Amino acid sequence: MALIVQKYGGSSVGNSERIRNVAARVAQYHARGDSVVVVVSAMSGVTDGLIKLAKELMPLPSEREMDMLLATGEQTTIALTAIALHAIGVPAVSMTGAQAGIVTDGVHTKAKIQNITPKKIKELLAERKVVIVAGFQGQTREGQVTTLGRGGSDLTAIALAAALKADLCQIYTDVDGVYTADPRIVPEARKLAEISYDEMLELASLGAKVMQSRSVEFAKKFGVIFEVRSSLNDNPGTIVKEETRNMEDVVVRGVSLDKNQAKLTLVAVPDKPGIAARVFKALGDANLSVDMIVQNISHGTGSPATDLSFTVDKPDLLKARKVIDDLHSEVAYVQVIATENIGKLSIVGVGMKSHTGVAGKMFDTLAREGVNIDMISTSEIKISVVVELARAEQAMKAVHAAFLG
Ligand code: ASP
Ligand code: MG
Repeated sequence: MALIVQKYGGSSVGNSERIRNVAARVAQYHARGDSVVVVVSAMSGVTDGLIKLAKELMPLPSEREMDMLLATGEQTTIALTAIALHAIGVPAVSMTGAQAGIVTDGVHTKAKIQNITPKKIKELLAERKVVIVAGFQGQTREGQVTTLGRGGSDLTAIALAAALKADLCQIYTDVDGVYTADPRIVPEARKLAEISYDEMLELASLGAKVMQSRSVEFAKKFGVIFEVRSSLNDNPGTIVKEETRNMEDVVVRGVSLDKNQAKLTLVAVPDKPGIAARVFKALGDANLSVDMIVQNISHGTGSPATDLSFTVDKPDLLKARKVIDDLHSEVAYVQVIATENIGKLSIVGVGMKSHTGVAGKMFDTLAREGVNIDMISTSEIKISVVVELARAEQAMKAVHAAFLG
């Protein structure tokens, strides 16, 4: 008998057939005596559809109202999942994030969990009920509805597993686990039996849309070991846990492609102290997270100027553009170029710490493919390049073949 947290993503609850399938799996665990907490996402496409509706009315809707709107997606699925369990005779109760005791800060659309008091959940489990919790949402101390950022149901599941000291945390999705690359783009990709938090974190933050990065950070911090597996079969998935020594033998664990970034370039900003500080402080104040930053060497002699480029998440492009436009009088750039036609290609592996020549091999592979590199960034366990979107998948296949083929 174990306490299990299971999370089902949007595609796993995408229609009534799939929801019935989830209910059947939950019922099996319940029948063998386990206590089961189920976290569900909105049905696939629902969150995107709601965002689209709001944007038809206004390009930058109020973030408070967006949370009110988006939280309805998960509220639909918790009720449907509970109903599907009732239909097969399993006692189940649905709960919103607030009812489940998930308290967040007040940063709408990107709220952070401050604490979880799972008292009510424990009571219901003690009555042998399956508890279905709405992912992705919480409530501030003042009672405002908040959401945890796109993909936030993963965070709900991991945080609940930590708060409940669950024996097992399973993240069910529509793939069999974490792959060396997205198999839809790279057919040769292989499923990994295990991966370290840090590698998973890089892959998640780099756009291998397996899990929300914040949820993996949270798991690392609280030592929540979890399994990513498919809701469509019984194959074992990928175990995500702290790095073990033999993990370093593999140089590159995976290759990922993030198509969800956009690039802004401030052309000919004055090259003098304080400019970068001003730009990135303003972006930070607007709660925008900037990923890669590249500043060129000065051009011109009289009053030196430089180009400053950075990337933000694609959905944040309009907001970032506005921040930059508002800075024009202070930061006298000549023009701003914004583009969504980029892809960020990355290789990740804890083995990079102890192997050399990895960057050279990656760049050489891209050169052979005739793919131009626009920006580069590296960390101890990853190398990322920004390339033209139209060539990005071709580049990914070549790099995967070079390191993992
Ligand atoms: N429904 C939310 C989203 O699409 C949260 C989630 O799926 O985890 O981002
Ligand atoms: Mg998701």
